[in-house]
Amino acid sequence: MKPAAFTYHRARTVPGAVGLLAELGDDAKVIAGGQSLVAMMNFRLARPEHLIDIGRIPGLDAITRDSGALRLGALVTHHAVETADLGPGFRVLSEAMAWVGHLPIRTRGTVGGSIAHADATAEWCLLAVLLDAQVVVEGPAGRRSIAAEEFFQGVFTTALEPDELIVEVVFPRPAPRAALTEYAERRGDFAIVAAAVDLDAARVVLGGVAPVPLRVPAAEAVLAEVVSGDECSSTRIHSRAASAAAEAIDARDEPGISAHYRRGLVRTLVARACAEAARPHDQRFG
Ligand code: FAD
Repeated sequence: MKPAAFTYHRARTVPGAVGLLAELGDDAKVIAGGQSLVAMMNFRLARPEHLIDIGRIPGLDAITRDSGALRLGALVTHHAVETADLGPGFRVLSEAMAWVGHLPIRTRGTVGGSIAHADATAEWCLLAVLLDAQVVVEGPAGRRSIAAEEFFQGVFTTALEPDELIVEVVFPRPAPRAALTEYAERRGDFAIVAAAVDLDAARVVLGGVAPVPLRVPAAEAVLAEVVSGDECSSTRIHSRAASAAAEAIDARDEPGISAHYRRGLVRTLVARACAEAARPHDQRFG
């Protein structure tokens, strides 16, 4: 299918894009990599009258380190992160990109686009909640920073105002013992269930079980008991956290996937993510 007719605008600066959003109102949509929006337009699930292309705004594709934090410009692509040397503290981000779609999608799709689209199983959305990322947005009133956990509000719904642009996503702390894993029916599909774990922060986040990336306090409590000790590597602790996560989710029977099956996926994937997180990076996902 083809999209409905629209007027194309190219923004050359962030204030220029924000000005266009304010001027064109609800009839306008930002386009970054187009890997989600174009499909939605082709299926007529989105019919913007104006498209504001931010793809060539200089500087929005920067990856920078800043006092221990990692700053990713909104236009940084999945593939750029996959192939960047981010050091052990942020290698979990590069590793997780292997789960996002296929290579052509990863070379076009962007961090900002993924976070704005807010699919609850998208790897970037899970990673943002897992690692306490801040989503930096700019609107007519200036810039503000929103904690990832508050940014995601419901199914494809975020705290972003219609006249705001995501300009960068900031990961404030290294996470050398973090991992993400998932299960999809075919490699490259969105996950049925995804699990992300940070052993040092005692953090467990699930995708595919709620309208937003879901933290699981019951599983986090298990990891918190041993957070500073070697026991973090113990399979007994991993399976206790995994069972706690499986029990905690609100799973229901759905066409093609039973509650029992989804709980089983959660149990398996949380245990696997814990085991990966405990392993040195060069021994992972062998
Ligand atoms: P676009 O498609 O350009 O935009 C998406 C939405 O975000 C639009 O509403 C747009 O207005 C808004 N937007 C974009 N940038 C900004 C910004 N800076 N500020 C404010 N709003 C903005 N993703 C996964 O996470 N995991 C997968 O497994 C996966 N599999 C895929 C498989 C296929 C076959 C395809 C086609 C896509 C898949 N994707 C997957 C989606 C892909 O990762 C997209 O790249 C991503 O979701 C959106 O990024 P984008 O830059 O392409 O955004």
